[in-house]
Amino acid sequence: MGIIVQKFGGTSVGSVEKIFNVANKVIGEIKKNHKVIVVVSAMSGETDKLIKLAYEVKDNCVEDREYDTIISTGEQVTTGLLALALKKLGYKAKSFLGFQIPIKSDSTYSKARIIQIDSENLKKALQENDALVVAGFQGIDETGSITTLGRGGSDTTAVAIAAAINADICDIYTDVDGVYTTDPNICRNAKKMEKICYEEMLEFASLGAKVLQLRSVEFAQKYNVKLQVRSSFNDNLGTIVCKEEEKMESPLITGVAYDKNQAKISILKVADKPGVAAKIFSTIAENNISVDMIIQNISEEDKTTDITFTVSKTDYLKALEISKKLATDINAKNVIGDTNISKISIIGVGMKSHYGIASKMFQLLADENINIQMISTSEIKISCVVQEKYGELAVRILHDGFELGK
Ligand code: ASP
Ligand code: MG
Repeated sequence: MGIIVQKFGGTSVGSVEKIFNVANKVIGEIKKNHKVIVVVSAMSGETDKLIKLAYEVKDNCVEDREYDTIISTGEQVTTGLLALALKKLGYKAKSFLGFQIPIKSDSTYSKARIIQIDSENLKKALQENDALVVAGFQGIDETGSITTLGRGGSDTTAVAIAAAINADICDIYTDVDGVYTTDPNICRNAKKMEKICYEEMLEFASLGAKVLQLRSVEFAQKYNVKLQVRSSFNDNLGTIVCKEEEKMESPLITGVAYDKNQAKISILKVADKPGVAAKIFSTIAENNISVDMIIQNISEEDKTTDITFTVSKTDYLKALEISKKLATDINAKNVIGDTNISKISIIGVGMKSHYGIASKMFQLLADENINIQMISTSEIKISCVVQEKYGELAVRILHDGFELGK
């Protein structure tokens, strides 16, 4: 007998009928003699609705204590409903909101971090029940205020609880049946991976693959929680997220990620001297804009250089305006921007110990006459920015070229 944590996302608990479907998944594990802690999200669309309401009351709604009090309520409903459904089906279940455990967090409202979970309470309740139902997304800070853990934060609740009670596995049930080598909507022969390691999953999550909240993967890696991403609508095995050593085989490339939400800005003829890059990027950061890729050229005789960087499309106009002002301040020639780009990345821990991967990627793109505008690399990832209209084509070419569909 073991302890299993299950997490069900918004689409899995979107109606009373679906809540009973979830209850049956929980009962399936109880019948195998496991104790179950189930973490649930709000019904799909609910959190968005609550956020809208908050902004209707105060349009420049500071995301503060009151905001979290409002947007955390979607989870309270599904938590109660699921516990009720389990009871109706004849099982002993009890609901818990974040503060009742408690899940202690810092006070960064709207994106609080978990500091500590009181596992004694949970362990005791688990002895008296078949299953506990825990509200995802919620915490409580040291002043007793309710906090929320950032969009998609129920994933982090589940992983943190799994870590706190040393669960055998944390099953993340969602509307897809695992992590794919690339977006199946773009590449029909995309394959579900059996296993992926934490490092690779972190890259996928930070490149915008929405299967897991980035922070939950960081948490899982730190506390070595074995995760499984699987579908709540069938019984198929999903994708296991685990340590690199537990992946039996390591293909060179694990998958191709695609990010359409990027825009690039170039500041031209910037003086090539100490402090200039610091000034540019500290000003951007002060405006709460995060920068992804950065490239800077070497300078020629005139001792000026061009600096190009990317930001998310939502931050583009603000970043462009700031850059224009900066350009005047630092005497740069001018600023140009472009939103017609997408970023394609190949990911895989296997590339750590191999050479020739980058050149193969560039050649595959060149063979299709796709121009590369920017390049960045890490130990386990190579990203290229290309013109937006070639984005999906590039994904398919790389997916086939690295034989990921086989
Ligand atoms: N309900 C929250 C959200 O929509 C948390 C979650 O679903 O994980 O972001
Ligand atoms: Mg989610």
